[in-house]
Amino acid sequence: MTALTYRYVALTDTGLRRTDNEDSGYASDRLLVIADGMGGAAAGELASSETMHVIRQLDRADPDVDALTSLEHAVDEANERLASLITADPAVEGMGTTLDALFWDGEKFAFAHIGDSRVYRLRGQDLTQISKDHTFVQSLIDEGRISPAEARVHPHRSLILRAMLGRDDNAADLSWLQPRLGDRYLLCSDGLTDMVTDEVIRHALGSETIDMAATELVRLALEGGGFDNVTVVIAEFVEKGTEPDEHLSSADGQPQLVGAAASQERPRTGDASSGTDSGRRKASALDPEELRYAPRPPSRLRWLRWLAVLVVIMAIVGTAGAYAYDWSQKQYFVAADGGKVAIFRGVQADIPGITLQHVEQVTDVELASLPEFRRQQVEAGIEASSKADAQKTVAELDQFAVDPTPTPTPSKTPTKKPTPTKSTTAAATSTIWLR
Ligand code: CA
Repeated sequence: MTALTYRYVALTDTGLRRTDNEDSGYASDRLLVIADGMGGAAAGELASSETMHVIRQLDRADPDVDALTSLEHAVDEANERLASLITADPAVEGMGTTLDALFWDGEKFAFAHIGDSRVYRLRGQDLTQISKDHTFVQSLIDEGRISPAEARVHPHRSLILRAMLGRDDNAADLSWLQPRLGDRYLLCSDGLTDMVTDEVIRHALGSETIDMAATELVRLALEGGGFDNVTVVIAEFVEKGTEPDEHLSSADGQPQLVGAAASQERPRTGDASSGTDSGRRKASALDPEELRYAPRPPSRLRWLRWLAVLVVIMAIVGTAGAYAYDWSQKQYFVAADGGKVAIFRGVQADIPGITLQHVEQVTDVELASLPEFRRQQVEAGIEASSKADAQKTVAELDQFAVDPTPTPTPSKTPTKKPTPTKSTTAAATSTIWLR
């Protein structure tokens, strides 16, 4: 077998609609990586760049250690890094990133994949998607319920089922890839694949050089709308010992780092009080884009709320009753009311003779339209820090409904919705979040 090596290039663009780049890309003669951050601008940049900084240490990994083992360890380490950042600053809870990493051992690639960034291979004229999206629509395709073409326009196409989140319940897919002479590999964020079809990618990836291919792919993503950050990392296999092509950016042999991980201004590393990032997160709190990313409320505060509820009950019994009752009536939660999702004011507890809750607003989201897991959450009650927070939760739930309601805004006018189909069960067993 011909001994192989590869040329490489990494390129990113913030796109036409975003002000920040949450993607990170990396290419060196041992490693190709892409990470697309999520969780709001500042947190997304942090997740993507910190993951990248951990993974690219593989460039210095011991070549005698099995590449897949080294890669698996690096992925675990990156996940632990995210966990410690979240512990240090609960404001970034809910942040995460996709990850695709190809680690070259001199003969083949060790491959790690999690999320909905993609890896494609162009072999001759044939383009093959090597990675499988960890998305809700992919699960529907697997069940034969929708076609890939329908997935592209599905209202829930942004839902991803797995990502790097600093938790141990979201493992990456690990495998080996065997490249051949002439193969081109493309790693790309959804900012490319949402904007162009595979056929367009196939054609552009076959450009005269990989540098031209990278430029062309980014250009096409922008031309297609440029809604998201777009990042491409490309490798092309040549015979080992081939003279470097002076016209290519990798001719200098230097690694290429692009996007969030390359920005001069490193994202914050845990100081919750440091100014601009927190401010930016707050400012975008009601941004629809922020809603797509939908960070989960910090679960570790739940016991504190229950303690507060207990104190309220005790206080009502005692002399401070009026004050505590007043506090309880400024609390909100989302629960079921007459088969619909409703926003309640008050707390989820009653004491004899005193009602601590009442329905504030019945929304048009049918309980029956939600996946089983979400329905159970609603039935158990979902706490909210404010009415706006409760409304945000309702809007998130609406995204999970089998048939989307015309508007996520809570309304007192119920709209009729068909009974749910079985397809929702695919998502019901997994943790799902929006990006
Ligand atoms: Ca993206």
